Amino acid sequence: MARDQSGRIQVITNPQALPASCAICGIAPGQSNSNAGGPVGGQEMEFADFGLQFEFYGAFYLCERCVFELADNFGCASPTLTNSLMEQVRYLNEQNAGLKNQLKELERALGDHVLAGLNITVDSNGNILSSDTVSATNS
Ligand SMILES: [Zn+2]
Repeated sequence: MARDQSGRIQVITNPQALPASCAICGIAPGQSNSNAGGPVGGQEMEFADFGLQFEFYGAFYLCERCVFELADNFGCASPTLTNSLMEQVRYLNEQNAGLKNQLKELERALGDHVLAGLNITVDSNGNILSSDTVSATNS
């Protein structure tokens, strides 16, 4: 997913300004801290750079795990959940397109039958429930 790197918060992999670590959990680039969770999906740990410097502390960075924990507390979906949902949406869109094509074919087939003088009732699965000859007295 493309990131907007023009905003106030930049996503970086290698914080340079000291202490060059997460302000909450203290993890630094290259560290494997199981308590902090480590990078997502085996990727390099990313940090949010707010462009903030505090006297007697230094640069304020948050690691991706702490950002995700924070976002979760605000009700945001995790990247894992988001990717899973996006995959489900793609699958359902494909299914929907296929079903729309099937519906068009069924409607076309039914239209041919109606034109042939038959009144056919089908259920949602396309099963024929009844078929009658259309009366010519309707007009
Ligand atoms: Zn952290």
